[in-house]
Amino acid sequence: MSDFVYDYHCHSTASDGALTPTELVHRAAAAGVNSFALTDHDTVAGLAEAEAAAKALGMEFISGVELSVGWANSEFHLVGLGMNVQQPRFAELIAQQQAARKARAKTMGERLNKACGTTDAYEQACALAGTDAPGRPFFAEWLVATNAARDQEHAFNRFLKPGRSAFVKTPWVNLGEAIKVIRGSGGEAVLAHPTRYRLTRMKLRRLLAEFCTLGGKGIEVALPRLSQAQEQLMYDCLEEFPLYASGGTDFHHPQQTWLTLGRLPKLKEGTPFIRALLQQ
Ligand code: MN
Ligand code: MN
Ligand code: MN
Repeated sequence: MSDFVYDYHCHSTASDGALTPTELVHRAAAAGVNSFALTDHDTVAGLAEAEAAAKALGMEFISGVELSVGWANSEFHLVGLGMNVQQPRFAELIAQQQAARKARAKTMGERLNKACGTTDAYEQACALAGTDAPGRPFFAEWLVATNAARDQEHAFNRFLKPGRSAFVKTPWVNLGEAIKVIRGSGGEAVLAHPTRYRLTRMKLRRLLAEFCTLGGKGIEVALPRLSQAQEQLMYDCLEEFPLYASGGTDFHHPQQTWLTLGRLPKLKEGTPFIRALLQQ
């Protein structure tokens, strides 16, 4: 039997990834992944294609999504794994998130037009995304193409991040409701990349305490490029809270040359792993 190699956090062209679901699954298989979840932002549009590709290769496939959620006036990312996405309440949640994304994109476009003296920021971002609800990376791409920014990072710093002129606060689903809908659809909720929110240790513990009370079960621990201190923090959280570890590369495109699908730090012996919950 070959080694178990998983990746439970990746993006396809259904959201802001560069590869189609099929291309992504093939790339994962080539990297040795045999248990895979596609987790596009607020959409499940890529799952059917990814699942068909995975099954054809004999790869375990877990349905996934990465939801933007609100908690304590800030935005967090919640990965849902193992849902039945046909479940009506889940489908409704996805429709709400898409509507919020679309309204946000239109407002972002208006603000960027004002800032840049252009008229078609929204339409251009739609064309780059191939959807009518483009996320910020596509506006950043357009800003770079029009020479309003040097690169993605500059575009975010100049226009798109919180506090900047084109940042639009979005009415995302709240954390508790998102967890309820994921669990009600047979899935489990995982807090994505906990170290990326720049929370104090105190605030992270407050978030996780509430997350657990609300029915959240997982945190991403196996992540590429965590510092030793960050990794230790994640294991401290696993000690303190009744949580299961998950992990993934957050792969978006092959230009992320530092990422290989499924290449994650090995979890320490005895760490509870989210897959155990998904099979019940
Ligand atoms: Mn993304
Ligand atoms: Mn994320
Ligand atoms: Mn992601």
